[in-house]
Amino acid sequence: MRCPCGCGDDLEVMLLSEVKPNWSLKTKDEDPPTLRPSVWRKTGCMAHFWLRNGHIHWC
Ligand SMILES: [Zn+2]
Repeated sequence: MRCPCGCGDDLEVMLLSEVKPNWSLKTKDEDPPTLRPSVWRKTGCMAHFWLRNGHIHWC
């Protein structure tokens, strides 16, 4: 996914269960995506945000 802060970086959000830490992406057919826990970039722009119901919530 593309970093939502606008810096243009691609985020490597690990959704694979064997990778720690990993994120779970809850998706249903009608529901927008929710990502938990929050995404906190340790490099680059240091963006820290939640993705809830398809919307970005900045920390
Ligand atoms: Zn960014």
